[in-house]
Amino acid sequence: MRYIADLHIHSCYSRATAVSSHLHGLAAWAAIKGIDVIGTGDFTHPQWFQELNKYLEEAEAGFYRLKNPDEVDVSALVPPDVQPDLSGVRFVLSAEISSIYKRGGKVRKVHNILYAPDFEAVRRVSSVLAGIGNLESDGRPILGLDSRDLLEIMLDNGPDGFLVPAHIWTPWFSLFGSKSGFDTIEECFGDLSDHIFALETGLSSDPDMNRRISALDRFTLISNSDCHSPGKLGREANIFDTGFDYYSMQEAIRVPLSKDGHRRFTGTVEFFPEEGKYHCDGHRKCGICFDPLETSDYQGICPECGRPLTIGVLNRVKELADRKKPKYSDSAAEVYSLVPLAEILGEILGVGPATKKVMKVYGRLIECFGSEFNVLLNASVTDITDSCSWALGEAIERVRSGRVIRQPGYDGEFGVIKVFSSDERQGMYEQISLFGVLAVKPRARKKQMNMKSPPVIRKRNKD
Ligand SMILES: [Zn+2]
Ligand SMILES: [Zn+2]
Repeated sequence: MRYIADLHIHSCYSRATAVSSHLHGLAAWAAIKGIDVIGTGDFTHPQWFQELNKYLEEAEAGFYRLKNPDEVDVSALVPPDVQPDLSGVRFVLSAEISSIYKRGGKVRKVHNILYAPDFEAVRRVSSVLAGIGNLESDGRPILGLDSRDLLEIMLDNGPDGFLVPAHIWTPWFSLFGSKSGFDTIEECFGDLSDHIFALETGLSSDPDMNRRISALDRFTLISNSDCHSPGKLGREANIFDTGFDYYSMQEAIRVPLSKDGHRRFTGTVEFFPEEGKYHCDGHRKCGICFDPLETSDYQGICPECGRPLTIGVLNRVKELADRKKPKYSDSAAEVYSLVPLAEILGEILGVGPATKKVMKVYGRLIECFGSEFNVLLNASVTDITDSCSWALGEAIERVRSGRVIRQPGYDGEFGVIKVFSSDERQGMYEQISLFGVLAVKPRARKKQMNMKSPPVIRKRNKD
């Protein structure tokens, strides 16, 4: 069976998350996005674990569903007129651990994601971890625990569980992070490295970047949203074509190509990596965004304030890469680089992606096409054009073929992906209506811009 899974998310018990990140809120948005399976996140948190016990029941082996999908009224959390069907959504028990520890004389900060098929394994793992640090203060607990030892605890207490290093390139908290990571998997996981078979690429990198490193050839690259609010589910995700249960999904990640040549881990949905907030190097406070060459011209120092620049993902990948171009194996999954639908609509309408205007059109599109992924991945451009507008059809076509304008993120600042040039947009505003919602005319837009001018990104001219 073909299905889409987003396997790294956070509940309302993690810091800086939305109160609507409860099980029903998450299931509602998973249905709207067209995601079949989501991680529960935060299974180490005692209260969240209680909620998982209370609201979920096993549907397929290791896949859980809501006992009473209609128990919580989600209408205020979703776009107008959308009535998502929560009953089809499945949860997989997952948690992220932030490990901060010393190794080889250096402080290491690494995030890892744990998966388990059953509540008993989770109970055992959490009780060991509770003896190491506080699990209650944050759904993503910070523990003084070596990544290798975390993996050992997982394997000892939940042999059918597995561990995936999270967003492996982000500078501050990851396996390969420029600030406090490692250079190899083996350095991090030592004698247990063989138990690692997948890596999460994170928003700021994509398979093309990762496949320049031959040391990563044996790993499956997975992609997840790491969302802190339900509406951001699925900004990255995985596409499977295998049995609809935990064990089949795990096996598809471990061995993407079956013996008879069937590809069971079929694809990943990705951000354009420039949109990620650590793609390039830079210093956010000073508005400095550099590519790796510029950074080396300035010896890694911010020319405005003299502080060290935050070295981003592109630079770090280049540092560890031993290939000029990516190399894919036969088992490699397809890659679909997408832009969230609300961002595309916001660009066309000349308003923010979270505005009422955008949500009204978004809701109509979900009604027409069933889910966001159906619009972004499956619907024909002709159907989109006929049912909505030329501009949206054209935008989806450009996103699918990678013809987008990229302003990279840096030092915690998200990048911006645009579909239309500013000249094209000026020409469009007069005529665009999406389901009767009119685009903002250029004059009104200018006024808005004057009130709060966008940050100036200083870039040295390339010669
Ligand atoms: Zn993380
Ligand atoms: Zn600076």
